[in-house]
Amino acid sequence: MKSRQLGLMHLVILLCLSVFAFSTHSAASQKDGLLKIYFFNVGQGDSIFIETPSGHQILIDGGPGGKVLSKLGGVMPFYDKNINLVVMTHPDADHASGLVEVLEKYEVENVVFSDIESEKALYLAWKELVEKEGANIIDPILGKIIDLGDGVILHIIYPSESLTGQRFDKTNNNSIVAMLDYKDLEVLLTGDIEVKGERAILIEGVDVDADILKIAHHGSKTSSMEEFLSAVSPEVAVIQVGAENRYSHPTEEVLKRLDDFGIKYYRNDLDGDIKITSDGNSFIIN
Ligand SMILES: [Zn+2]
Repeated sequence: MKSRQLGLMHLVILLCLSVFAFSTHSAASQKDGLLKIYFFNVGQGDSIFIETPSGHQILIDGGPGGKVLSKLGGVMPFYDKNINLVVMTHPDADHASGLVEVLEKYEVENVVFSDIESEKALYLAWKELVEKEGANIIDPILGKIIDLGDGVILHIIYPSESLTGQRFDKTNNNSIVAMLDYKDLEVLLTGDIEVKGERAILIEGVDVDADILKIAHHGSKTSSMEEFLSAVSPEVAVIQVGAENRYSHPTEEVLKRLDDFGIKYYRNDLDGDIKITSDGNSFIIN
């Protein structure tokens, strides 16, 4: 495990610190003191489920369609219909359409998303459901700290400013990027950012050093540039990708870069659901 060094950026982060702490507890399937992170195999898309040691539940993206519901059913008790926090990294269907299904079926206490302007049907459906749910809405901005309980923290490191009310043709480079932090374990979650987003993060001087990296944009060659991989320098990478997808993700270029850096990687298309379990000092993957 690597220790995190306090850089200049951290002083800035502390100055604009915002803390959200969960006040309620949801049922835990197993309270064994371990952090669990599931990278669900939902086809071509992202969906990450986190359970803190005392059972707080967080869902980051919902993948395409409704596969996420059966995945959640596999890791949550059947009677548990409550999720503490849902993050929509960006509104593309391969991340967001499953979240609409989740909002319809589960009670969600907190949501994190950039409240951009868009008339796309999927996004409007999401917004309507969030409103109906009455969930607490958290605007993601660099420096925001979301306390998940048990010493598990979600640090928002991108975007660097609020995108509320803005319009975009494409939203990959507006994806929420967050560092999940539990004691000595750091997991960098990157949505679909591309080189533009990676550069912006590096220019801000954010410490992105992590043990585990969720590879951006399903292993597209327009992401995971060498400078970014070098700065993150993970031991392990996870590629959320569907079998035989039409984009030929992950690309040979990105796989070669990972090999060159000696980063071991796991892929949903070959490995199925990927589960990481950690006590905050070491982790196992299965
Ligand atoms: Zn995507």
